[in-house]
Amino acid sequence: MNRIAIIGAGMAGLAAARRLADQGHDCTVLEKSRGLGGRMATRHADALRFDHGAQYFTARGESLKAYVRGWQQEGVVAEWGPDRLVGCPGMTAPAWAMARGLSIHRNCRITHLEHRPEGWQLHTEPGPDHEALAKPFDAVLLAIPAPQAITLAATAGIEFPAMAQVRYAPTITLMAAFDHPLSLPDVAFEPTEGPLAWIARNATKPGRDTEPETVVAHAGSEWSRTHVDTPAEELGEPLLEALRAIVGKAQPFHWQVHRWLYARVEQAAGTPCLWDAQQRIGACGDWALGARVEAAFDSGEALAAAVIRSTGVDQGQAKG
Ligand code: FAD
Repeated sequence: MNRIAIIGAGMAGLAAARRLADQGHDCTVLEKSRGLGGRMATRHADALRFDHGAQYFTARGESLKAYVRGWQQEGVVAEWGPDRLVGCPGMTAPAWAMARGLSIHRNCRITHLEHRPEGWQLHTEPGPDHEALAKPFDAVLLAIPAPQAITLAATAGIEFPAMAQVRYAPTITLMAAFDHPLSLPDVAFEPTEGPLAWIARNATKPGRDTEPETVVAHAGSEWSRTHVDTPAEELGEPLLEALRAIVGKAQPFHWQVHRWLYARVEQAAGTPCLWDAQQRIGACGDWALGARVEAAFDSGEALAAAVIRSTGVDQGQAKG
């Protein structure tokens, strides 16, 4: 199996692409955003930087530990307290490190899949042509949140029944910058009452600017679910009010709100990945094993292993 398309350049897609490319497969990664890393995200606002998605990650498995050792030597990853690792200077840094040497096409949203006799033809929304998609692929791997994977697979008449049970909770995130330090703990604060469930000062993470004070605050699942359809600009004031209830009077000179629709997996599929060896389509992501960067990585590696195992196999169905 030579040409493999991987849709999504989050941790799962990059882990799969890396492993397959290292085994000599011709991998092409298609990513709808400008950046890499998916929900391991860093938002830039002029000179301000916010890790507005995943706050940190763990590396308990041997395979991710091996990557982390290399990243630590390069300064791409550092510890932020026990069992907590962060990308440096932002959470996307490990994704960019993994992407080195891979063929990645950004600003490329795949809208539907077509299974032709000669292989998988991928289609994008109207816009500039992506030359990488001119020829069909031997296999296609979906490394995107389960609800999006279900929709995309359905365009080719493919069903992944194991994904039907997956549930995500949304998260609404406030990013705010202040011209004075806030009185907050040095690692992170997890309020037990009110809309906010997590508050972190970026300056306490290694490799960040210490001034100005930039804060990322995630609303809890319940509040986020209630407000997920409210326009982002209307959510700033209630979230700032909730922050003031904790830190006292504080007026940011900059704030913005991001609504993550598929933030955290509440119910996972409970299988490392999905791979249909006959149709040569597979799927990986955090939805497989749980709501963590490391779970997404493990799922990507499991899918790569399933593809490698089935190389040369013409028939049958396998699950990774
Ligand atoms: P994603 O990171 O979502 O990657 C999917 C990629 O596919 C994205 O880049 C997307 O743009 C792209 N894509 C989607 N559709 C298409 C398409 N049609 N065509 C092309 N590209 C497409 N985890 C932790 O371990 N620790 C934490 O502290 C933590 N905190 C979190 C806080 C928040 C607010 C959120 C949102 C998540 C948090 N997580 C945390 C969870 C963690 O970020 C995710 O589990 C993990 O990053 C998921 O990786 P993934 O590769 O499965 O998916």
